Amino acid sequence: MSDIAEVYRHRIERVRAAMSERGVDAVMLSAGHDLPYLTGYEAMPLERLTMLVVDQHRVPTLLIPRLEVARVEPLDGVFELQPWDETDDPVALAASLAREARTVAIGDQMWARFLVELLGKLPGVEYRRAVEVVGPLRMRKDDAEIAALAAAGAAVDRIAAQLQAGEIPLVGRTEAEVSADLSARIVAEGHDRVNFAIVAAGENAASPHHHAGARVIGEDEIVLCDFGGTMKGYCSDTTRCVVTGAIPAEIAEAYEILHTAQRAAVAAATVGTACSQVDRAARQVIEDAGYGEYFVHRTGHGIGLEEHEDPYIVDGNDLALEHGHAFSVEPGIYVPGRWGMRLEDIVVATADGPVSMNNSDHHLISV
Ligand code: ZN
Ligand code: ZN
Ligand code: ZN
Repeated sequence: MSDIAEVYRHRIERVRAAMSERGVDAVMLSAGHDLPYLTGYEAMPLERLTMLVVDQHRVPTLLIPRLEVARVEPLDGVFELQPWDETDDPVALAASLAREARTVAIGDQMWARFLVELLGKLPGVEYRRAVEVVGPLRMRKDDAEIAALAAAGAAVDRIAAQLQAGEIPLVGRTEAEVSADLSARIVAEGHDRVNFAIVAAGENAASPHHHAGARVIGEDEIVLCDFGGTMKGYCSDTTRCVVTGAIPAEIAEAYEILHTAQRAAVAAATVGTACSQVDRAARQVIEDAGYGEYFVHRTGHGIGLEEHEDPYIVDGNDLALEHGHAFSVEPGIYVPGRWGMRLEDIVVATADGPVSMNNSDHHLISV
């Protein structure tokens, strides 16, 4: 068996172990990232059903529209293809593969229409979310996955360095123009696709998920850039802020607090620490400085095949970090109508302590 097939076969073995631990008889995966995690194949998220059915007995079966068979890299011993034709009922085929199952776990991103049809075809079955069995495995990145995250992180760091060196023109351009520029650089730095390139100037930076628009960037303004993409299957995501000219005292002071908060949360991200405690580490610094009401989101999200996945670095999440957990640490301070700022790195918890995938300058730089 090839090395790559061995990787996927091993993942399926671990899914099966998790299934028996949790009393799940069959796992059904469609659109979304659990499927490529187990097979290397990403389903087209269209109206034709693609579905992997994993149980304890058979080689996993990948039901696939016949016209998409050519897109699949076959992996002998990992899964078998079952193509369906235009006049077949793929949900009935899927149901027949899970006929004996009493408990079925469904991938989060399977279309509701397929699940609703399945409910009718497999009555009396207990349905669960596949994230129960696949999620904990996907959270623990192996060495190859960590290397992929590091490579994607280094690529966006080079763009952050260009931004901080003043090599990306800002003043006089619209946010949308700068966003398009960042996007082109994400691809030029080796990513397969751009996932987002938020550019928010001045008061727009107070909206954490601002959509880059027609606003023209002026002098002496803070410009928040949050960008990332997917490189060889794994995601990047970093945020840096710069100021176009003189840095106002109020912004400089707030940024020092933000920087301290971000550093504290990264340092707290050790194996065994609860996700909620990493959030607390950042939030405490910002609250103590009197900006607590302006930090309006969780501290971070897991990252890997998806931009946002488990584990979430949020109050109430008592999950303890394990070696290989990868997530963002991205506190922010947002003063509505005036300005906003965020500082974001991807961090991996390892047995040797937290390792940052992003290492561009963390200071607020005047360009
Ligand atoms: Zn976000
Ligand atoms: Zn981000
Ligand atoms: Zn993020």
